[in-house]
Amino acid sequence: MYNRKPAEEIVLEETKVWNCTSEDCNCWVRDNFKSSEKPLCPICKSEMAPGVKELQAVENPRQNA
Ligand SMILES: [Zn+2]
Repeated sequence: MYNRKPAEEIVLEETKVWNCTSEDCNCWVRDNFKSSEKPLCPICKSEMAPGVKELQAVENPRQNA
């Protein structure tokens, strides 16, 4: 017999991000938040490198047409 409550499902999604290249800075931004083609770190203004992060999927409610 199993008596497990259904765990709240956390969906992780590979999300395109930009990582700060500065060793002292752990900043990163989601690709869709970037302000230009090659974003600069909003914290330290270093260049950022494209990468991928497993992030909790953002609920995407049906958009009103
Ligand atoms: Zn930075």
